[in-house]
Amino acid sequence: MNSKLVVGNWKMNGDLARNQALLEQVSGQGNAAVERAVCVPFPYLAQAQAALVGTAVAVGAQNMSEFDDGAYTGEVSGRMLSEFGCRYVIVGHSERRSLFGEDDATVARKAAAALRVGLTPIVCVGESLAEREANQVETVLRRQLDALGEQLAPEALARMVVAYEPVWAIGTGRAASAQQVQAVLAFIRGWLGERVDNSGVVKILYGGSVKPDTALELFALPDSDGGLIGGASLVAGQFIEICEAAAIASQRE
Ligand code: PEP
Repeated sequence: MNSKLVVGNWKMNGDLARNQALLEQVSGQGNAAVERAVCVPFPYLAQAQAALVGTAVAVGAQNMSEFDDGAYTGEVSGRMLSEFGCRYVIVGHSERRSLFGEDDATVARKAAAALRVGLTPIVCVGESLAEREANQVETVLRRQLDALGEQLAPEALARMVVAYEPVWAIGTGRAASAQQVQAVLAFIRGWLGERVDNSGVVKILYGGSVKPDTALELFALPDSDGGLIGGASLVAGQFIEICEAAAIASQRE
């Protein structure tokens, strides 16, 4: 059985004072059945590292370069993230794909670069509303996953986290239904099963408008290992309640 993982994605939000309060609140006592992390903007990594050292909440980033070093102005490498105590890095978030032109191959190269330096990439995949309405969900997911399969050996695939984030559910307040989520999580598990010996150990998260009142149902799904949380991760009380829902879902397994 996988322990559940709940990851906050702060996106481009926060300031030093608000972050400090939020970090102190979310790093209070948690349940050992749930792994927690917050992915903060680059300038706040040092603050998060200092605030979370010795707590059960891990630090993560929201993006990284596909390159290891060199003349790539404005980029941040995985090695740099490691120096600031990051355990996780989100790659291929739909906002990166749609607003910054990251394609499947770039996302896969970023995942490979993260794994090279010992970071765990949280690789986001998911379809747009138009793709869902055109019954293209599995086609899109397969394309996104196959790009990972081309870059990563099976042992590397086994070390990533996959986050299913339907684009139409992100930041909209409209979470996918439990049935929709389970169907895709099972598809991802099946894809992994064809490539990785013990695909059951790879964590698969759901993200998209998860709130305290929907978290338990989504985390209790057979193929769910937790969630990637945007808006609700900026409100300490909501993030804590979502982590508690994950603990309850873990205990039910
Ligand atoms: C996200 O940005 O990864 C996300 C899931 O956002 P929200 O929870 O706000 O939909």
